[in-house]
Parts: sequence; C-alpha cells; structure tokens
Amino acid sequence: MSLDPEFVALLRCPKCRGALQQHKAPSGFACASCAVFYAVDDDLPNFLIEDAKPWPLSAPSEAR
Ligand SMILES: [Zn+2]
Repeated sequence: MSLDPEFVALLRCPKCRGALQQHKAPSGFACASCAVFYAVDDDLPNFLIEDAKPWPLSAPSEAR
C-alpha cells in the first residue's frame, strides 16, 4: 500500500468522524466506534458506508 501517511492521518470515519485504524492485511481502515471496515482497492479507500464491512471481519479471505 502506498498511501501517504499524512493523507491517512487526515482520514476520518464517514459515519462518526472518528479516527480510523489502518490495516494492511486486508488493506483498509477500521472504525472501532462503528465496528465497520472500509476496504482499500488499488490504493483507493472505499469510504462508502453501504460498502463497509462489519468489523472485526468474520471472513478474512473475503474478496470483492
Ligand atoms: Zn465510525
């Protein structure tokens, strides 16, 4: 993943505006408050709430 750490630091959960935790495997961002995971595809974080997955992920091998 080649996301700029400064860019990552500015990212906020679209639901609660809380800080996100970056994960590398699978790549994405988790919000502990909302218990959701936003996947990153090709270095593009997908922050669509309707595409968010439950966190923690129940099926780590799940791919989009
Ligand atoms: Zn949140």
